[in-house]
Amino acid sequence: MSSRTPKLSVVIPVYNEEAVLPTLFARLYPALDALQIAYECVFVNDGSRDRSAALLRDQFSRRPRETRVVLFHANFGQHSAVMAGLAYARGEYIVTMDADLQNPPEELGRIVAKLDEGYDYVGTIRQQRQDVLWRRVLSRAINRLREWITPVRITDQGCMMRGYSRSVVHALNETREVNTFIPALASLYALRPVEIPIAHEERFAGASKYSLYSLIRLNFDLITGFSVVPLQLFSMIGMAISLLSALLVLYLALQRLFLGPQVEGVFTLFGILFFLVGIALFGIGLLGEYVGRIYAQVRERPRYIVQAVLESDGEDSQA
Ligand code: UDP
Ligand code: MG
Repeated sequence: MSSRTPKLSVVIPVYNEEAVLPTLFARLYPALDALQIAYECVFVNDGSRDRSAALLRDQFSRRPRETRVVLFHANFGQHSAVMAGLAYARGEYIVTMDADLQNPPEELGRIVAKLDEGYDYVGTIRQQRQDVLWRRVLSRAINRLREWITPVRITDQGCMMRGYSRSVVHALNETREVNTFIPALASLYALRPVEIPIAHEERFAGASKYSLYSLIRLNFDLITGFSVVPLQLFSMIGMAISLLSALLVLYLALQRLFLGPQVEGVFTLFGILFFLVGIALFGIGLLGEYVGRIYAQVRERPRYIVQAVLESDGEDSQA
């Protein structure tokens, strides 16, 4: 272990980013050098199948003092990679950002300035967000829902370029939750949060690692990880519906008694039945989301497996 603690750790998850890494290095290090503070970049290679790991090794040999590389042995997902980066980071301030240059490294100074002012959480709001339309619409809808049913208050949940103080990162490192949403969790731990507008660019190269499916999964983590309102809402809906169907049964019984048997309206009944079955299925699925979270939690599998760590003082320590 080294005795030197840098002022700033920049944590960057990397998954199949060979197309952007050279440009990232070329912009990130000069931007950090310009700040004139002791810093380290902690790259976490999330099981890339391209040349990302080799490029990270090269960069490590070029700037060993300011570079640390954590190599996963498989793909564990962006949030696991960031959690690993936070666990390995030694800085007094920690900033997380994406590798794809959607978050300009030149903005790091503004985040550090806010941390210097004593804020322990620097959230960011993307100016002129450069993403495809459906992503923006989806993200706005989820934002609304999150504001409504969870205690998390952040303006722009999607931007990963954020600054945290050591105390917030310490709390994050103590958290044993398996599937989580780091910016939201951190905002709950912060005592003096602040938000700043930040520039946002198009992905420099390569493609987004998120499909619609994985975005839906991520957003389930955001909602079910921070609120049980969906479950409670469900029992309310269940109550209302049972009340209504009791009335319907009563009405049908009276009709049968006073008007005699009849088959008309059978399709209306089917319609109502299908609707109710739909709601019941949704409810089972929703329960499954929570049960799945509990299951992932009780298995207590490691969140990630580290293959090797490249750092200057411990040489190439194999894990
Ligand atoms: N990423 C990762 N593991 C994954 C998916 C993504 O480490 O399984 C990294 C990726 O390399 C990038 C960041 O997470 O640095 C954000 O990914 P991406 O830009 O694809 O997401 P988007 O900006 O489209 O939300
Ligand atoms: Mg991106």
